[in-house]
Formats: sequence, C-alpha cells, structure tokens
Amino acid sequence: MSKYLTRNTTELDVVPLKTAKADKGHVRRFHVMAKPGGAKCNIDCQYCFYLHKEGLLHQPKQPRMSDELLERYIEQYIASQDSNEVTFSWQGGEPTLLGLDFFRKVIVLQKKYAAEGITVNNDLQTNGIILNEEWCEFLAQNNFLVGLSIDGPENIHNKYRVTRSNKPTFHLVMKAVALLRQYDVKFNALVTVNRHNVKYPIEVYRFLVDELKVSYIQFTPVVEPKNFESAAPQFFNDSAVPFLGSPEARPGNVMSIVTDWSVDPDDWGNFLKVTFEEWINNDLGRVMVNLFETAVAQTMGKPSQLCVTSEFCGKAIAVEHTGDIYSCDHFVYPEYKLGNINDQNLPDMALSVRQEGFGMSKRDSLPEYCKRCPHLNLCWGECPKNRIIKTPDGEIGLNYLCSGIKTFFDFAQPILVGLVTVMNTGANKTQLSKGSAKPESF
Ligand code: SF4
Ligand code: SF4
Repeated sequence: MSKYLTRNTTELDVVPLKTAKADKGHVRRFHVMAKPGGAKCNIDCQYCFYLHKEGLLHQPKQPRMSDELLERYIEQYIASQDSNEVTFSWQGGEPTLLGLDFFRKVIVLQKKYAAEGITVNNDLQTNGIILNEEWCEFLAQNNFLVGLSIDGPENIHNKYRVTRSNKPTFHLVMKAVALLRQYDVKFNALVTVNRHNVKYPIEVYRFLVDELKVSYIQFTPVVEPKNFESAAPQFFNDSAVPFLGSPEARPGNVMSIVTDWSVDPDDWGNFLKVTFEEWINNDLGRVMVNLFETAVAQTMGKPSQLCVTSEFCGKAIAVEHTGDIYSCDHFVYPEYKLGNINDQNLPDMALSVRQEGFGMSKRDSLPEYCKRCPHLNLCWGECPKNRIIKTPDGEIGLNYLCSGIKTFFDFAQPILVGLVTVMNTGANKTQLSKGSAKPESF
C-alpha cells in the first residue's frame, strides 16, 4: 500500500509537547503509527515512500512484530494516554499480510490492558488486495476504520498502483470495496495525488464521491526527492537546493530534484482549487476532505486538525516491527530514531526533549518568506519533509509545494472567510449542513 496516508493527519490538538505536559488544560496524548509488518507489501506502487525501508533498515524478508513486543507496545501505548480514548493505527507496508490471527491477538491484548471506561479504536490502512469475507467480518465486528488506498477511477488508479509484475490493481480494490460495503465496514479513501492524477481533479473527486460513495477523503501530495531512499529529510547539500519556480524544482526533467511521479507544485494548487470549488458547491457538510475541513476550522480560529498545516508537529510518532521508534512515519531514517520500546518507555521517547525539538522546529525553521506570507496561519510551511527548495531571496527551507499552496489559498481564503461568517451568523446554516449550495455571499 502507499504510505502517504492517514494520520500524518493526527487529529490530536497540535500544541508543543511541553505545553501538552505542563498545562492543566491539555491532556498528554500522542499518536503512534504502527508498522508491525515493516515495509513488506504485496504490490509495488511506483511512488511508495516506504518500500525502500526494507533495504535502508536492513529488514528481514518477512518482518513481523513478535508477540512479546506487540504486548509491550499495546500495554505502553494504552498506559501513556491521558484520555478515555486510545486510537491504534496499523499500517506498513501492507499490514494485512500479517494475517487475521495477528489482529485477533491485537484485540485480545487491547481488552487485557484497557481499563474500564477506556475506548480503544483501531484504524487499518490497506491497499485492500487481501480483504475477503472473513477479514471484513472481523473488521466490522471490531469496529475498525479502514483507510483504503485508491487514486481515482480505473485508468488513473492503475497508472502507479500496480502489482510486482506491473499488473493493474483497480479491479482488486473495487472487489474489496464491495465486500466492505456488504459487511458494513466504515472506510475512507486515501488518495495520493501524484504527477498523473493531479491533472484530473474533477474525475478523481467525483469518482470518490459518486462511485465510491465515501464521506471522508484524504488527499496527500506525492513529493519525493530523487535521493529519498538514502538521504534523510533535511540532510541535504545546501548548494544543490533549487530556487522556487526553477525547472529543478518541478518534476519531469533530468535536473529535477524530485522523482518523475512527484506532483508538480502548480498542478497541486490547481487540483486543490478545482476540488475545493466542487466540494463547496456540491458536497459541503456531507463529504469531508481533510485539507478543506481543517482550513475551515483554522479560519474559525480553531487549531489545525492536521499536522502538516499546524504551527508545530511531532505528536505522531512511528513504531517499526522491531520496536524502534521514529519521530514521524515520514522520518523513518536512522537519523530520526528516538529509541526502542525494548529499552525505553514509549512516552519517554514520544515526549522527550528531542522529539519536542523536532515538533517545534516546524515553526522555528520557517524562512522569512513564510513568516511574511498572508497564508501563514493556514499553511505553516506545510510538512518539513517537503521543505527542499529556496525562497526567491535564497533562503533554504521553503516548501516545494509553496507556489501551489499560495494559489489555492489566494482563491480559497475569501471563500473560507465568507463561509465562516455565514456559519457564525447562523444564516443558511441548514442549507450549509445539507451541503446543498454555497451561500449567496460567495
Ligand atoms: S514531519 Fe511533522 S508535519 Fe510532516 S508528516 Fe511528520 S508530523 Fe506531520
Ligand atoms: S504558502 Fe508558501 S510562503 Fe506561505 S506559508 Fe506556505 S510555504 Fe510558506
């Protein structure tokens, strides 16, 4: 499955960790994305950012979290959350390769360690290939939320999401969709926006809403430096960093710093603009799109629901099948390893000074160009892993997607302000909640 998924979008309040520990008003919470089967996958999406961890982290042929480690992880994770609700996220690689018995064990252990009154949720990110009736029955019975990777209608999806022998996967994913529906399993669409599907915003969006009939869509842009398999984010040669708008800062030419399947920044802006307009005109209130929902919330003065558009991040760490803990699932590189749950307690690593520094640097390393940007409070420089270009005045650390993000917010911000004004005054509230039309003031 693709790794560009779900909870790079942690829905926790994104506040500095120090604040999270110190303030009475805040609970101590962090999110963990677990990769109990390592990077192992049953398909071979060209743009996957995780498959190469097999080599980088010297993973065995069949990586698998041991029963002992799984128990330690579940116990520590539940114990470390100051909350009545704990959410486990299972991803990889392709987590279903571990087999149903692994997840049956997960449920048994969660029941063992969750005290009365604690609600345990599970979400599973999958390419859907393995899902059959037995799986769907289990997922429904145990109330799993499935994040299904799908990139659009058949010809668009099959461009990069292929098997190891380069065969299409769309029909297999749609088989899984039918089963998920049959067993009433809740599922969301996880869409990686790449250099190809970005050209078809309406086709992709309408397919998800009208044919897949999902009510939650997560769009994640593919941005991969050519050397991503060996070079950790932010460990690059400053002299090779291209300027905003230069040919090297877009995909498709030999000098480009990104892979050919990375999204073009201006296409990303157009994709967001077109889908946002479609959403606000037709689906507001009935379909949730991760980036648009949080932009509405931020315009209302609420915190971002996504790490990428928050002032700080660092509250969504990753655990590999060995028990190694990393600062983020996009930073699973030796340079960002925090420790191992065999040697240290999970919260000691998740709430460490080092990890706090990681999260704070999202804001503290912003270039002046961002600090002067009218959209700073909606963007916050997006994800630090994508800060791989230079500002027009030569400062490094600008986000590769900047031009597209600016185009999008130039277009969307007045609409968002209008929408929030209408919501605050109560006018057209019923109409908005039905998603039937945009208010006249737009
Ligand atoms: S580095 Fe920060 S913003 Fe980027 S995905 Fe990780 S937690 Fe989110
Ligand atoms: S739109 Fe560009 S300049 Fe503005 S905050 Fe985002 S990355 Fe920085």
